[in-house]
Amino acid sequence: MVVSQRFGEGHRVLVTGGAGFVPSHLIDVLIARGCTVVALDNFVTGSKENVAHLADHPRFTLVEADASEGLPAHHPAIAPRFDAILHMASPASPKDFATLPIEILRVGSVATLHLLDRAVADGARFLMASTSEAYGDPQVHPQTETYWGNVNPVGIRSVYDEAKRFSEAATMAYHRHRGLDAGIVRIFNTYGPRMRPDDGRAIPTFISQALRGEPITVHGTGAQTRSICYVDDLVRGILLLLDSTQSGPINCGTEHEVTMRQLAESIVELTGSTSSVTYVTRTSDDPEMRRPDLTLARTRLGYEPSIDPEEGLRRTIEYFRQRLE
Ligand code: NAD
Repeated sequence: MVVSQRFGEGHRVLVTGGAGFVPSHLIDVLIARGCTVVALDNFVTGSKENVAHLADHPRFTLVEADASEGLPAHHPAIAPRFDAILHMASPASPKDFATLPIEILRVGSVATLHLLDRAVADGARFLMASTSEAYGDPQVHPQTETYWGNVNPVGIRSVYDEAKRFSEAATMAYHRHRGLDAGIVRIFNTYGPRMRPDDGRAIPTFISQALRGEPITVHGTGAQTRSICYVDDLVRGILLLLDSTQSGPINCGTEHEVTMRQLAESIVELTGSTSSVTYVTRTSDDPEMRRPDLTLARTRLGYEPSIDPEEGLRRTIEYFRQRLE
Protein backbone atom coordinates (compact mmCIF):
# COMPACT_ATOMS: atom_id res chain seq x y z
CA MET A 1 0.00 0.00 0.00
CA VAL A 2 1.47 3.35 -1.02
CA VAL A 3 -0.19 6.53 0.21
CA SER A 4 0.73 9.57 -1.84
CA GLN A 5 1.01 13.04 -0.33
CA ARG A 6 -2.33 14.88 -0.40
CA PHE A 7 -1.42 17.91 1.66
CA GLY A 8 1.50 20.17 0.81
CA GLU A 9 2.14 23.46 -0.93
CA GLY A 10 -0.90 25.72 -1.11
CA HIS A 11 -2.88 23.83 1.54
CA ARG A 12 -4.04 25.43 4.78
CA VAL A 13 -3.93 23.18 7.84
CA LEU A 14 -5.28 23.89 11.32
CA VAL A 15 -3.58 22.02 14.18
CA THR A 16 -5.20 22.36 17.59
CA GLY A 17 -2.79 21.94 20.49
CA GLY A 18 -0.07 23.08 18.09
CA ALA A 19 2.30 24.22 20.85
CA GLY A 20 2.29 20.75 22.41
CA PHE A 21 4.87 17.98 22.19
CA VAL A 22 3.53 15.75 19.36
CA PRO A 23 1.65 18.51 17.46
CA SER A 24 4.73 20.76 17.26
CA HIS A 25 6.71 17.95 15.59
CA LEU A 26 3.82 17.35 13.21
CA ILE A 27 3.80 21.04 12.33
CA ASP A 28 7.52 20.97 11.52
CA VAL A 29 6.87 18.35 8.84
CA LEU A 30 3.76 20.11 7.49
CA ILE A 31 5.74 23.34 7.16
CA ALA A 32 8.61 21.48 5.46
CA ARG A 33 6.07 20.09 2.98
CA GLY A 34 4.95 23.60 2.03
CA CYS A 35 1.66 23.77 3.95
CA THR A 36 0.42 26.95 5.60
CA VAL A 37 -0.14 26.01 9.23
CA VAL A 38 -2.27 27.65 11.90
CA ALA A 39 -1.58 26.33 15.40
CA LEU A 40 -4.27 26.97 17.99
CA ASP A 41 -3.33 26.54 21.64
CA ASN A 42 -4.24 27.83 25.09
CA PHE A 43 -0.87 26.68 26.54
CA VAL A 44 -2.51 24.67 29.31
CA THR A 45 0.17 21.98 28.91
CA GLY A 46 2.02 23.22 25.82
CA SER A 47 4.55 25.99 25.43
CA LYS A 48 5.32 28.74 22.91
CA GLU A 49 8.93 27.54 23.10
CA ASN A 50 7.98 24.39 21.17
CA VAL A 51 7.17 26.47 18.09
CA ALA A 52 9.46 29.45 18.78
CA HIS A 53 11.69 28.43 15.83
CA LEU A 54 8.68 29.03 13.53
CA ALA A 55 7.67 32.40 15.00
CA ASP A 56 8.83 34.41 11.97
CA HIS A 57 7.96 31.79 9.37
CA PRO A 58 5.66 33.31 6.70
CA ARG A 59 3.52 30.16 6.54
CA PHE A 60 3.05 29.73 10.29
CA THR A 61 0.64 31.45 12.69
CA LEU A 62 0.15 30.72 16.36
CA VAL A 63 -3.29 31.66 17.69
CA GLU A 64 -3.86 31.71 21.42
CA ALA A 65 -7.36 30.40 22.10
CA ASP A 66 -9.24 27.69 23.98
CA ALA A 67 -10.59 25.19 21.42
CA SER A 68 -13.43 24.34 23.82
CA GLU A 69 -14.79 27.88 23.43
CA GLY A 70 -15.10 27.45 19.66
CA LEU A 71 -12.81 28.86 17.01
CA PRO A 72 -12.21 32.63 17.00
CA ALA A 73 -13.96 32.83 13.63
CA HIS A 74 -12.99 36.43 12.83
CA HIS A 75 -9.28 36.00 13.47
CA PRO A 76 -7.52 36.66 10.14
CA ALA A 77 -5.69 33.31 10.31
CA ILE A 78 -8.81 31.34 11.27
CA ALA A 79 -11.42 32.92 8.96
CA PRO A 80 -10.25 31.52 5.57
CA ARG A 81 -11.10 27.93 4.63
CA PHE A 82 -8.90 25.07 5.87
CA ASP A 83 -8.02 22.04 3.73
CA ALA A 84 -7.30 19.89 6.79
CA ILE A 85 -8.04 20.11 10.50
CA LEU A 86 -6.06 18.03 12.98
CA HIS A 87 -7.59 17.94 16.46
CA MET A 88 -4.54 17.30 18.60
CA ALA A 89 -5.41 19.48 21.62
CA SER A 90 -5.76 17.74 24.95
CA PRO A 91 -3.77 17.40 28.12
CA ALA A 92 -2.50 13.81 27.91
CA SER A 93 -0.58 12.91 31.04
CA PRO A 94 -2.07 10.89 33.93
CA LYS A 95 -0.96 13.79 36.13
CA ASP A 96 -3.31 16.07 34.14
CA PHE A 97 -6.25 13.67 34.65
CA ALA A 98 -6.22 14.69 38.33
CA THR A 99 -5.56 18.42 37.88
CA LEU A 100 -7.46 19.27 34.65
CA PRO A 101 -10.40 16.84 34.55
CA ILE A 102 -13.08 19.24 33.31
CA GLU A 103 -10.74 20.86 30.76
CA ILE A 104 -9.91 17.39 29.39
CA LEU A 105 -13.59 16.45 29.14
CA ARG A 106 -14.40 19.70 27.33
CA VAL A 107 -11.56 19.57 24.82
CA GLY A 108 -12.45 15.96 24.04
CA SER A 109 -16.14 16.73 23.52
CA VAL A 110 -17.23 20.38 23.05
CA ALA A 111 -14.06 21.30 21.13
CA THR A 112 -14.34 18.18 18.97
CA LEU A 113 -17.91 19.13 17.95
CA HIS A 114 -16.88 22.72 17.10
CA LEU A 115 -14.03 21.43 14.95
CA LEU A 116 -16.15 18.78 13.25
CA ASP A 117 -18.69 21.47 12.29
CA ARG A 118 -15.94 23.65 10.92
CA ALA A 119 -14.44 20.72 8.95
CA VAL A 120 -17.85 20.01 7.38
CA ALA A 121 -18.33 23.70 6.51
CA ASP A 122 -14.87 23.88 4.92
CA GLY A 123 -15.02 20.47 3.20
CA ALA A 124 -11.74 19.76 5.02
CA ARG A 125 -10.17 16.43 5.92
CA PHE A 126 -10.50 15.98 9.70
CA LEU A 127 -8.09 13.99 11.78
CA MET A 128 -8.85 13.03 15.37
CA ALA A 129 -5.94 12.28 17.71
CA SER A 130 -7.31 9.46 19.82
CA THR A 131 -5.37 7.19 22.13
CA SER A 132 -4.56 3.66 23.19
CA GLU A 133 -6.38 4.70 26.39
CA ALA A 134 -9.55 4.02 24.41
CA TYR A 135 -8.76 0.35 25.17
CA GLY A 136 -8.60 1.08 28.94
CA ASP A 137 -7.03 -1.81 30.87
CA PRO A 138 -7.17 -4.19 27.91
CA GLN A 139 -8.17 -7.83 28.11
CA VAL A 140 -6.98 -8.46 24.55
CA HIS A 141 -3.27 -8.35 23.77
CA PRO A 142 -1.96 -6.94 21.49
CA GLN A 143 -4.81 -4.49 20.93
CA THR A 144 -6.55 -4.66 17.57
CA GLU A 145 -8.83 -1.85 16.45
CA THR A 146 -11.79 -4.25 16.59
CA TYR A 147 -11.37 -4.61 20.38
CA TRP A 148 -13.89 -2.38 22.18
CA GLY A 149 -11.81 -1.87 25.28
CA ASN A 150 -12.19 -2.16 29.03
CA VAL A 151 -12.65 1.34 30.45
CA ASN A 152 -13.87 2.23 33.93
CA PRO A 153 -16.37 5.00 33.01
CA VAL A 154 -16.17 6.67 36.42
CA GLY A 155 -12.54 6.08 37.39
CA ILE A 156 -9.91 8.83 37.61
CA ARG A 157 -8.69 8.14 34.06
CA SER A 158 -12.20 8.23 32.64
CA VAL A 159 -12.13 11.98 31.92
CA TYR A 160 -9.48 11.30 29.29
CA ASP A 161 -10.49 7.81 28.10
CA GLU A 162 -14.19 8.59 27.76
CA ALA A 163 -13.62 12.02 26.20
CA LYS A 164 -11.47 10.41 23.51
CA ARG A 165 -14.07 7.67 23.03
CA PHE A 166 -16.75 10.36 22.67
CA SER A 167 -14.55 12.15 20.13
CA GLU A 168 -14.19 8.93 18.17
CA ALA A 169 -17.98 8.40 18.21
CA ALA A 170 -18.57 12.00 17.12
CA THR A 171 -16.01 11.74 14.33
CA MET A 172 -17.62 8.57 12.99
CA ALA A 173 -21.11 10.12 13.21
CA TYR A 174 -19.99 13.16 11.17
CA HIS A 175 -18.25 10.81 8.74
CA ARG A 176 -21.36 8.65 8.29
CA HIS A 177 -24.09 11.28 8.44
CA ARG A 178 -22.47 14.52 7.20
CA GLY A 179 -20.15 12.96 4.64
CA LEU A 180 -17.06 14.25 6.46
CA ASP A 181 -13.70 13.03 5.19
CA ALA A 182 -12.34 11.97 8.58
CA GLY A 183 -9.70 9.75 10.13
CA ILE A 184 -9.07 8.56 13.69
CA VAL A 185 -5.61 7.65 14.90
CA ARG A 186 -5.17 5.72 18.16
CA ILE A 187 -1.80 6.88 19.43
CA PHE A 188 0.26 4.59 21.68
CA ASN A 189 2.86 5.86 24.18
CA THR A 190 5.07 8.33 22.36
CA TYR A 191 8.15 10.12 23.65
CA GLY A 192 10.80 12.51 22.43
CA PRO A 193 12.19 16.04 22.67
CA ARG A 194 9.76 18.82 23.71
CA MET A 195 8.06 16.73 26.41
CA ARG A 196 7.98 18.59 29.71
CA PRO A 197 10.39 17.30 32.36
CA ASP A 198 7.58 17.55 34.95
CA ASP A 199 5.01 16.11 32.57
CA GLY A 200 4.23 13.14 34.82
CA ARG A 201 4.55 10.52 32.07
CA ALA A 202 7.06 7.71 32.67
CA ILE A 203 9.83 8.58 30.19
CA PRO A 204 10.28 12.30 31.00
CA THR A 205 9.93 11.52 34.72
CA PHE A 206 12.54 8.74 34.67
CA ILE A 207 14.96 10.76 32.51
CA SER A 208 14.67 13.88 34.70
CA GLN A 209 15.16 11.82 37.85
CA ALA A 210 18.15 9.98 36.36
CA LEU A 211 19.81 13.21 35.22
CA ARG A 212 19.31 14.80 38.64
CA GLY A 213 20.62 11.67 40.39
CA GLU A 214 17.30 11.25 42.20
CA PRO A 215 15.64 7.84 42.82
CA ILE A 216 13.61 6.63 39.82
CA THR A 217 10.02 6.21 40.98
CA VAL A 218 8.42 3.20 39.31
CA HIS A 219 4.73 2.66 40.04
CA GLY A 220 3.71 -0.68 41.60
CA THR A 221 6.04 -3.60 40.87
CA GLY A 222 7.00 -2.12 37.50
CA ALA A 223 5.78 -5.26 35.71
CA GLN A 224 3.17 -3.28 33.75
CA THR A 225 4.11 -2.78 30.09
CA ARG A 226 3.91 -0.02 27.50
CA SER A 227 5.03 -0.03 23.87
CA ILE A 228 7.11 3.06 23.32
CA CYS A 229 7.35 5.04 20.09
CA TYR A 230 9.79 7.80 19.18
CA VAL A 231 7.90 10.91 18.04
CA ASP A 232 9.28 10.92 14.46
CA ASP A 233 7.77 7.47 13.81
CA LEU A 234 4.41 8.57 15.17
CA VAL A 235 4.41 11.76 13.08
CA ARG A 236 5.06 9.69 9.96
CA GLY A 237 2.09 7.46 10.81
CA ILE A 238 -0.23 10.40 11.49
CA LEU A 239 0.69 12.04 8.18
CA LEU A 240 0.13 8.78 6.30
CA LEU A 241 -3.37 8.67 7.76
CA LEU A 242 -3.93 12.34 6.94
CA ASP A 243 -2.88 11.78 3.31
CA SER A 244 -5.05 8.68 2.94
CA THR A 245 -8.82 8.50 2.70
CA GLN A 246 -8.97 5.96 5.53
CA SER A 247 -11.35 6.68 8.40
CA GLY A 248 -9.88 4.21 10.87
CA PRO A 249 -9.61 4.01 13.77
CA ILE A 250 -6.02 2.98 13.10
CA ASN A 251 -3.42 2.21 15.76
CA CYS A 252 -0.11 4.02 15.54
CA GLY A 253 3.02 3.37 17.58
CA THR A 254 5.50 0.51 17.82
CA GLU A 255 5.52 -3.07 19.05
CA HIS A 256 8.53 -2.37 21.26
CA GLU A 257 6.90 -3.47 24.53
CA VAL A 258 8.82 -2.92 27.76
CA THR A 259 8.00 -3.24 31.45
CA MET A 260 8.30 -0.03 33.45
CA ARG A 261 11.11 -1.68 35.41
CA GLN A 262 13.08 -2.42 32.21
CA LEU A 263 12.45 1.12 31.02
CA ALA A 264 13.76 2.61 34.28
CA GLU A 265 16.84 0.38 34.13
CA SER A 266 17.66 1.28 30.51
CA ILE A 267 17.30 4.99 31.28
CA VAL A 268 19.69 4.67 34.24
CA GLU A 269 22.16 2.90 31.94
CA LEU A 270 21.82 5.31 28.99
CA THR A 271 22.17 8.41 31.18
CA GLY A 272 25.10 6.89 33.10
CA SER A 273 23.20 7.87 36.27
CA THR A 274 23.85 6.68 39.81
CA SER A 275 20.09 6.75 40.58
CA SER A 276 18.49 3.77 42.26
CA VAL A 277 15.06 2.44 41.24
CA THR A 278 12.34 2.70 43.91
CA TYR A 279 8.76 1.48 43.85
CA VAL A 280 5.82 3.72 44.76
CA THR A 281 2.06 3.21 45.01
CA ARG A 282 0.41 2.56 41.70
CA THR A 283 -2.49 4.76 40.58
CA SER A 284 -5.89 3.13 40.17
CA ASP A 285 -6.96 1.71 36.79
CA ASP A 286 -3.37 1.86 35.51
CA PRO A 287 -3.38 -0.52 32.52
CA GLU A 288 -1.42 -3.78 32.92
CA MET A 289 -0.21 -3.94 29.34
CA ARG A 290 -0.24 -2.09 26.05
CA ARG A 291 0.91 -3.13 22.62
CA PRO A 292 -0.67 -2.10 19.33
CA ASP A 293 -1.54 -4.57 16.64
CA LEU A 294 -0.16 -2.62 13.68
CA THR A 295 -1.62 -4.78 10.90
CA LEU A 296 -4.08 -2.10 9.75
CA ALA A 297 -1.43 0.66 9.78
CA ARG A 298 0.87 -1.56 7.74
CA THR A 299 -1.66 -2.82 5.20
CA ARG A 300 -3.76 0.34 4.76
CA LEU A 301 -1.08 3.00 5.15
CA GLY A 302 2.23 1.27 4.48
CA TYR A 303 3.35 2.37 7.97
CA GLU A 304 6.50 0.89 9.49
CA PRO A 305 8.20 2.35 12.57
CA SER A 306 11.94 2.56 11.97
CA ILE A 307 13.67 4.32 14.85
CA ASP A 308 15.70 2.10 17.14
CA PRO A 309 14.32 2.55 20.69
CA GLU A 310 17.78 3.02 22.17
CA GLU A 311 18.52 5.77 19.64
CA GLY A 312 15.16 7.43 20.40
CA LEU A 313 15.89 7.39 24.11
CA ARG A 314 19.40 8.80 23.53
CA ARG A 315 17.97 11.74 21.53
CA THR A 316 15.39 12.39 24.24
CA ILE A 317 17.97 12.20 27.03
CA GLU A 318 20.15 14.69 25.13
CA TYR A 319 17.21 17.11 24.90
CA PHE A 320 16.47 16.83 28.63
CA ARG A 321 20.16 17.17 29.49
CA GLN A 322 20.29 20.49 27.60
CA ARG A 323 17.03 21.69 29.16
CA LEU A 324 18.02 20.82 32.69
CA GLU A 325 21.40 22.51 32.25
P1 NAD B 1 0.82 17.96 25.01
O1 NAD B 1 0.18 18.26 26.32
O2 NAD B 1 2.26 18.27 24.85
O3 NAD B 1 0.04 18.68 23.81
C1 NAD B 1 -1.33 19.01 23.89
C2 NAD B 1 -1.49 20.47 23.52
O4 NAD B 1 -2.88 20.79 23.54
C3 NAD B 1 -0.81 21.43 24.49
O5 NAD B 1 -0.03 22.37 23.78
C4 NAD B 1 -1.96 22.11 25.21
O6 NAD B 1 -1.65 23.40 25.67
C5 NAD B 1 -3.03 22.08 24.13
N1 NAD B 1 -4.40 22.19 24.63
C6 NAD B 1 -4.99 21.45 25.58
N2 NAD B 1 -6.27 21.84 25.76
C7 NAD B 1 -6.49 22.84 24.86
C8 NAD B 1 -7.61 23.65 24.56
N3 NAD B 1 -8.78 23.52 25.20
N4 NAD B 1 -7.50 24.58 23.58
C9 NAD B 1 -6.32 24.73 22.92
N5 NAD B 1 -5.22 24.00 23.17
C10 NAD B 1 -5.31 23.07 24.14
O7 NAD B 1 0.54 16.39 24.74
P2 NAD B 1 0.98 15.44 23.53
O8 NAD B 1 1.55 14.23 24.13
O9 NAD B 1 1.72 16.17 22.51
O10 NAD B 1 -0.45 15.03 22.96
C11 NAD B 1 -0.99 15.57 21.75
C12 NAD B 1 -2.24 14.79 21.39
O11 NAD B 1 -1.91 13.41 21.17
C13 NAD B 1 -3.29 14.79 22.49
O12 NAD B 1 -4.57 14.87 21.91
C14 NAD B 1 -3.13 13.45 23.16
O13 NAD B 1 -4.32 12.99 23.74
C15 NAD B 1 -2.70 12.59 21.98
N6 NAD B 1 -1.95 11.40 22.44
C16 NAD B 1 -0.64 11.52 22.83
C17 NAD B 1 0.03 10.38 23.26
C18 NAD B 1 1.49 10.42 23.67
O14 NAD B 1 2.02 9.37 24.06
N7 NAD B 1 2.18 11.54 23.57
C19 NAD B 1 -0.63 9.16 23.34
C20 NAD B 1 -1.97 9.10 22.97
C21 NAD B 1 -2.61 10.22 22.51
